[in-house]
Amino acid sequence: WEHRKIPQGFQIKTGSFSEDSRGRWYVNITCEIPDENWFQEPAPFGSDAGIDPGMKTILTTSDGTSYSRENITQRYAQQLAKAQRLRKKRHAKKINAKIKNSRQDWNHKKSFELSKQYQTIFFGNASSGKFARTRMAKGVYDAGWHQIKTFLSYKSLRRGGRMLEINERNSTVTCSICLLKTGPSGLSGLGIREWLCICGAVHDRDVNAAKNILRLGHETLSLGHIA
Ligand SMILES: [Zn+2]
Repeated sequence: WEHRKIPQGFQIKTGSFSEDSRGRWYVNITCEIPDENWFQEPAPFGSDAGIDPGMKTILTTSDGTSYSRENITQRYAQQLAKAQRLRKKRHAKKINAKIKNSRQDWNHKKSFELSKQYQTIFFGNASSGKFARTRMAKGVYDAGWHQIKTFLSYKSLRRGGRMLEINERNSTVTCSICLLKTGPSGLSGLGIREWLCICGAVHDRDVNAAKNILRLGHETLSLGHIA
């Protein structure tokens, strides 16, 4: 069957065969497409956002929008363990493919929404070891930030925008209003969602972090550290 029709005006350049993890074969065709099909409507001018990656709330923006979904790895964990115990290799592969697909689907949808809304997206660098060494490492894997960032990059580019990674060090402990480091810190601080700064500001931990990432992004840009 044809997974996707080749639209009119698309010129076939090359082709190849590939096999997926479930043993299904595909013909892949590379096409040259007219530019107007690639570029999309730009996000509103000057609409920038900082994004704080997290565990339960996967993405939080500096204007307070949060995106979360259930842990897909966890949802299928029992089914997968059972298939592996019974040595049902094909079934296990099918479950793994399901996990991968639903995570990818979610990442596509959210990165599409974000690229449509914001021109410059400053993404907090989640691989900086904030979670990697903790027992939440499995959850980090489930979030698939690397994929979200890849999708955001090209989807923003299509709209004339961009995604830039920002070192998010201290973003959770710094007050985004007075810039003092008054927020909850360390592993014990991870359980605290809302806090009050001595300047009187009440913060949602993730939204505050995203606001700091936005500010750090603008500072980095004005210093010319990012071309
Ligand atoms: Zn403050």
